[in-house]
Amino acid sequence: MSRLVFVISMFFLPLSEAAVAQANPEKTVGAEAVAEIGPDESGNWRVEYTFDTPQKVLAFARSESDYRDATWFVEGDGVRFGRVAGADVIVFDDPSRTVAFSLIPLTNKPEADYTPFVTFGDGGLAIHEGQFSLIPFESRDAVEALDGDLSAAEVPQLPMTVRLSSDKPIIVDGETYQGQVEHRLEGDGTYIYMGDSAIESFDSFTAILDRTLPEWLQSRFDSDLEAIFAGLEARWGFGLEDKASVMLAFKEGRSDGFSATGEALDQLLMMEVGGKDLAEPGFDTLSYLQWFFAHEAIHLFQKQRGVGFAGGGEAWIHEGAANTMAYSLIADMVGPEDGPKFLSGVYANAFETCVGALEKGSLETAQERGDASAHYACGDFIALATDGFLPRRSLYDFWNRLTTLAAANDKTQVDADLYFSTVQLLGVRRSQRDMLREIVEEELDNPRKALTDLLDAAGLDPQFNDKDQLIKLNWPDYSAE
Ligand SMILES: [Zn+2]
Repeated sequence: MSRLVFVISMFFLPLSEAAVAQANPEKTVGAEAVAEIGPDESGNWRVEYTFDTPQKVLAFARSESDYRDATWFVEGDGVRFGRVAGADVIVFDDPSRTVAFSLIPLTNKPEADYTPFVTFGDGGLAIHEGQFSLIPFESRDAVEALDGDLSAAEVPQLPMTVRLSSDKPIIVDGETYQGQVEHRLEGDGTYIYMGDSAIESFDSFTAILDRTLPEWLQSRFDSDLEAIFAGLEARWGFGLEDKASVMLAFKEGRSDGFSATGEALDQLLMMEVGGKDLAEPGFDTLSYLQWFFAHEAIHLFQKQRGVGFAGGGEAWIHEGAANTMAYSLIADMVGPEDGPKFLSGVYANAFETCVGALEKGSLETAQERGDASAHYACGDFIALATDGFLPRRSLYDFWNRLTTLAAANDKTQVDADLYFSTVQLLGVRRSQRDMLREIVEEELDNPRKALTDLLDAAGLDPQFNDKDQLIKLNWPDYSAE
C-alpha cells in the first residue's frame, strides 16, 4: 500500500513544479527552459526551445556520443551548432531566448548513452527526454576548457520542462495523458511513451509491453519478472523503494537469431528485444531473455542508494557484477539439472571473450578499442573473484557496502578507487586486491594464465577440457539468501 502512495506523490511533484514555473517565471531561480517536441510533416522531429532569460552558449548535457552531428540541424540565422571539444554546442551571435532544431530520430543505442528514440513493433514510440537537456555557458571557451567532461561544468543543466503533444495516449512516470503532457526533466531524464499500449500493473512492477510481442513471451513475462524481482529482493536483502516500471519493445526483424538491449534509469527499465528466434520458445532463448531481464533489474538494485555508474574504463564494475548475479539467479530458476549447464555455457563464452579482449590491451582501455563486451566478460570474473576473496563470501553484501559508502561520501558514481578500497575494507588481502587490479589495469603478456591464476587464488577451482575451454567453476551459491 505504501508503495502505491509513493508512486502517486512522485508523479504529482514534477507536474506541480512545472506548473509553478510556467505561472510565475520571474519567481524561479536561474534560467528556465521549455523544450517543445513533436514530429513534423516529413517524419523528422522538431524541438523548439524557449528560455526565460537570453542565452549565449549552450552545450547538450548528454554529449558523449557525437550522433547529433549527423542528425540534428539548427534552424534560422544568428546561431551556430556543432561539435566543440567533445561536446555538442550551440553558440548564439547575440543572446537569444529561442532556438529550434529539426532532427532525424536516432533509434539505435549510441556509444555511452541511452537510445534517444525507441520504436515499438506496434507503432509505439518512447522518447528519452534527457537528450534535450542543456547546460548554459558564458562562452565557447568555457566549454572547450572542460575538454568533454561536462559533469565538471560550474553551472548545472537548465531547469527544463519537456512539452509533448500527440494524438496517441502519452505515458510518463506511470500516468497516462491525452493530448499533451508537460514533464519536468530531472537528472538523466526518463522515457516518455506515446502509443496504444496501456500500463499493466503487477506486484513488483508496472509494464508497457509491445502489443506485437510473441504470445508465448507475453503470457509468461509477468510471472518470470515477478520471480526475478522476488529472487533479487531475497539476495540483496531489500526491496525497491517504489515499483519498477518496465517498457519492452519488440522488433520481429528479418535476421536469424535474436538481440536484446536494455537500459536502467531511475526506476525504469527500457528493454528492446528482437529477432526471428523469439517467434517460438526455446531453452536458449528463454534463459538468455531471463538473464537479460535479471541483469537489467539488478542495475535498479545497484542504483537504489542514489549512486550512479562510472562509465568508460570502469564499466566492468557494475556490468560484471550484474552479469554474475544474473547468471546465478537464472541458474537457480532453471533448476539443478539445467542450472550448471547454463553456467558452464555462459562462463566458457565469457572466458574466451575476456581473454580475447585482454590480448589486445588492458581492460580499462577496452572501450576505447571498441571492445565494450570485455567489461561484461572480464567483469564477470572480477566479480566472481571478489566474491571468492571476501572472507564472508557475498557479492551482495559487498555491493551494499560499496553503494552505502559511495552515498555516505557524496560520490555520484561507484568508481574503481572505491571498489578496491572497499574490497580491502571487507578483509581482502592486499596481494589479492592486486590480482584484481592487474586484470583491470595491466597489459598482460598471458591473459589466459592471469585469469586462470586469479580464479585459482579466489578458490573458484577452474577446470578446463582438453581444448582449453573453461567447463566448470566452484560457482557461488546464493539460493539460500
Ligand atoms: Zn548492464
